[in-house]
Amino acid sequence: MVFGKNVLIYDLDETLYKKSEEFADILDKTMAEALVYDLGLDMDLQKAKKLVTESYKIYRDGGEIFYQQYGIEPRDLFIAYHRRKPVEKIVPYDNLIEKIKKIPAEQYIFTASDRYASEKILKHLGLYEFFKNRYFSVEDFGVFKKNEDSQVYKDFCKKIKVNPQDVVFVDDSYSNLEYAKEAGMTTVRIYYKNNSAKDKKYIDYAFKGIESFLNAVLKSEAA
Ligand SMILES: [Mg+2]
Repeated sequence: MVFGKNVLIYDLDETLYKKSEEFADILDKTMAEALVYDLGLDMDLQKAKKLVTESYKIYRDGGEIFYQQYGIEPRDLFIAYHRRKPVEKIVPYDNLIEKIKKIPAEQYIFTASDRYASEKILKHLGLYEFFKNRYFSVEDFGVFKKNEDSQVYKDFCKKIKVNPQDVVFVDDSYSNLEYAKEAGMTTVRIYYKNNSAKDKKYIDYAFKGIESFLNAVLKSEAA
């Protein structure tokens, strides 16, 4: 059990690996390239990249400004961006799989990456074999985000045949946790620099990095 629950669902990006500032910058550039080269956005690449960064800051979504102001379809950007995502530049944690294997709960992943990118990321992190039939993408539920509605969290639970009340959901993005909580889950936020969302009522627990969460569970502090 983890916090008295028998199911644990992790977010993937920036939860099961840490995004360096350098990698964040590469991802913004990648999204700009997808917009300009793949989707034909008539804009200078540098300007597009700046807008991606700005959009992420305002909306927690690098594409939002382009959906609202430039007629870009979320689905098109979702696919083009994930095709280009440079997963080989992610630096995996050491021995994460050994810790995950010891966690006393049924474990799953729910990611806002598409299936193509998430498979590549899981293989790169050495987590693919363990999570092979236990990872799902938003696209499996016909959506592109998991911070808009609690329905997708309920649908996820239906798919794995568990009750949301029996689930601990772990994510670095607090905008996702709001809806996981609304669905009835216990929520854990992973933060890096400082715990910037500690005032949010829908966050039950917060840990600095996934390793400190896993260590706490393994030490039974959280069991
Ligand atoms: Mg994330």
